[in-house]
This record gives sequence, structure tokens and C-alpha cells, in this order.
Amino acid sequence: MKDRRWYANNGGARLLGFDLCLIHQHDRDVVLHRIHSVALLALQALRILPVLERLLARRTNQDFQQLLGNHGGNCTPGKNLITTEAQKHRENENGVSLWLSASVVNILFCLAIESNQTMPARILDGTKIAGDIRNEVAADVKTMAAAGIRPGLAVVLVGHNPASEIYVRGKVKASEQVGLYSEQHTLPETSTTAELLALVEDLNRRDEIDGILVQLPLPQQVDSKKVLMAVDPAKDVDGFHPINVGFLSTQRPGLVPCTPAGVIEILKRSQISIAGQEAVVVGRSDIVGKPAAMLLLNANATVTVCHSKTRDLWAVCRRADILVAAIGRAGMITRDFVKPGATVIDVGMNQVTDSAEFQRLFGGGLAGGSAANARREAAFRAKGSTLVGDVHPDVAEVAGALTPVPGGVGPLTIAMLMYNTVKAAKMRRGSGQWSVASGQ
Ligand code: NAP
Repeated sequence: MKDRRWYANNGGARLLGFDLCLIHQHDRDVVLHRIHSVALLALQALRILPVLERLLARRTNQDFQQLLGNHGGNCTPGKNLITTEAQKHRENENGVSLWLSASVVNILFCLAIESNQTMPARILDGTKIAGDIRNEVAADVKTMAAAGIRPGLAVVLVGHNPASEIYVRGKVKASEQVGLYSEQHTLPETSTTAELLALVEDLNRRDEIDGILVQLPLPQQVDSKKVLMAVDPAKDVDGFHPINVGFLSTQRPGLVPCTPAGVIEILKRSQISIAGQEAVVVGRSDIVGKPAAMLLLNANATVTVCHSKTRDLWAVCRRADILVAAIGRAGMITRDFVKPGATVIDVGMNQVTDSAEFQRLFGGGLAGGSAANARREAAFRAKGSTLVGDVHPDVAEVAGALTPVPGGVGPLTIAMLMYNTVKAAKMRRGSGQWSVASGQ
């Protein structure tokens, strides 16, 4: 049972005891809520089909394909009808013919016969996509090895930040798995800027090192910007050096920050089109938000970047066909922020330890009561914490496609680091073409 606010937001109603949430009023969107056949008859009796028809016709073919595709493409007959009929209607704005009405009825039936449940979002499996990229990188490494080149990654860790230690371990292990040469440099917590600069200079000079990664955050006494600036841009596998930032913004080949590059890989490899779509990125950090926005822009999306001073954040987010959340606030993006059918990419990684917060996130809606949530709750009780994104789990009820946390963007970050190391080796050692599918 939805509350009044939900209906207000979604332009729907409850009729004869059935959800009838077809039209998103603000955006003239079609909400792919499954409709019970009795409710459908009521729709016909109320003579609102012509209204629906007009709304359907305003959507582009691509939008429909995307919307339905996001839902797993399980409405194929309707998909074809929607696209062709909507197209015809657009070509002849004045004519609302009977056969067109009949087609709309077909579309509705097509949705109705599925079930009378809401359609949960397609879950975009980051672990699988990351595995594919790693396999591609491993194949590339093998080819390079045959030519006598073994790409090498140096990871620099300062101090004993537990999270950083875990990340570095993961990066070194992944390097070994794809066949890269890797080495880890662990410096004491008391290290100075000068000591770090000396290490970076040495790594810059060594020919067998293709990628240098300085794990952030660095201790307070170290000038992080100075250290990152010292990394040779050709070995800057994090893509943070201003030269690589410039290459990205001017669409020249360079090294792109791993997490945002992973976001684009998820979209592309899930066949979610970017060109022409309205993309909203929440967060403007140099590491995630800004490069993600730039990559989306380079892929021809219309991009809006939001931050803590953005007014009416929910309304801006609700315009998005593709919504990227990189905020660092557990479950902040609730269903009210999401246009029905939109693709939602959750970059956030937040440790939740408070049980009231756990309840807020996992206590209700579609997410509440699921087997996955029961498992998560058991793990939370045992461990005292759980990893949560910036997107509330209930968004799965509204979005067309959604990345989970964990198992969404996270695995892509390391995969793209592997990819960047091979890319850096090829660029610097001049072996020519990129063969990894996503390369430039
Ligand atoms: P960050 O540097 O702290 O940036 C957070 C951004 O969110 C800022 O631009 C901030 O706005 C904005 N923001 C904060 N509160 C907001 C609010 N109430 N409304 C609107 N905007 C708000 O964080 P980050 O490094 O970009 O990381 C973001 C999240 O992604 C974190 O959860 C982080 O753990 C995660 N992350 C994940 C991966 C991965 O591999 N999956 C990698 C990196 C980061 P202002 O600029 O106005 O302050």
C-alpha cells in the first residue's frame, strides 16, 4: 500500500483497490507500474486512454527502449507497439485514431498480464562486469608478456589506516591475479612530504613501473597535493594529476579516475544509452563527482552537477534519466528523488553501525522483509556494521536499473585500476592500439 505522498509524486491513484500509477505528472513520464486487468477495464471506462496516448507519444523511441530495457525487456510485445505507435503519433500530431487507441490498450494489457506487482529495478551486477574487465586485462597482459613487456604497478601506503590497508591489499592481490608486476611501499605514519616526494621520483624514473598509486588519505603533515602533482602523468593510474584532468576535459587520450570510469563501464556494458540522456551527478569531488560528470558529458549526456548548496535537490534529481549518487551519506537518495524508470548508480560506501539507521534503511518498502535483507540483518547483528550506499534500498521499487552496494560500483574501481595500468604501459612503452574493449 502506497502512501498519499507517493501517489502525489507519481501521478497515480488507487482505484477499486488496485494500484493505478501510470503517469508521472511532472515529467509526462509513463510509469511502468504493472496494472491489474480490472483496473485496466476501469481505465477504459473512465475514458482516460486518449490522455495516456498523448503522454506516451511525447516520449522518444529511445526513452521507451531504455525504460523497458531497464526492466529486463520482459514486455517485448508492448515494447514494439509503444515505439512504433508513439513514433507514428508524433509524425501525425493531430490524428488520434482508433487503431492507435487499440495499441495503447495492448500495451497496457501487455503490462497487466505480467502481474499486479510493482516492477523492481534491474540490478546492475558490478561484480560480473568487473570480472569481465579483469579477464580482458589479463588477456592483454598475456599478449604483452609474449612481447616481453610486463606492466608494473607500485602502490604507496603511508601509516596504518585500516581502510587504506584493506584497499591496498585488494589492489596488490588483483594485480597478481591479472598477471601484472606489483610492489607495495609502506612508509611510517610520521613520513614527511620530502620523503614521499623522493619515493615518487624514484618510481617515476624506474622503467618497469608503469603505474603509481598513492593511497589516500595521507597523514596531515604531508602535502597531498604536492605529492600527487609529483607523480609522472604518464604513470598516474588514479587519473588525479591536473594534466590528466585536462586531457579528460578536452577529450584527449589520458588516464581517467578509476571509480568514474567504472560508472561509465557499468552503463555501457549494461546497454544503458548515455547520449541525449539527462544525467544528474550528486557530488562534486575531484575523485568521483567531477570526473563522472565530465565522462557523462563526453558521452553526450546533458549533465547537471549537484552539491551541498544545490536548492531543491530532489527536484533536480528527479529530472535524471541517469542519476549518479556520490555523496557519502547513507541512503540519502530516497525514492522521492528518483524519476520512475531512471537508472541509478550508487557510488556511496558508508558503514552503518547504528540499529535505528539500519531500520530506516532496511525496515520497510520493497526492501523490507526480503530474503536479502534478512541475510543483511543477520550479518549486521553479528558484525555490528553493514556497508550501505548513498541510495535508499526502496529506490529499487521506482528505478528502472540500480547498482547495489556492495557489488555495484565498488568492484569496478579495482578493475579499472588494472585497466589503467595496462593502458599506461601501452601509452608509455608505445605498443600502439588498445585492445581492452572500453579503451580509447
Ligand atoms: P566527498 O569528497 O566527501 O564529496 C561528497 C560530495 O557530496 C561533495 O561534493 C558534497 O558537496 C556533496 N554533498 C554532501 N552532502 C550533501 C547533501 N546533503 N546534499 C547534496 N550534496 C551533498 O566524497 P567522495 O570522495 O566524492 O565520495 C563520495 C562517496 O563515494 C563516499 O561514500 C565514498 O566512500 C564513495 N566512494 C566510493 C568509491 C568506490 O570505489 N565505490 C570510490 C570513491 C568514493 P560540497 O562539495 O558542497 O561539500
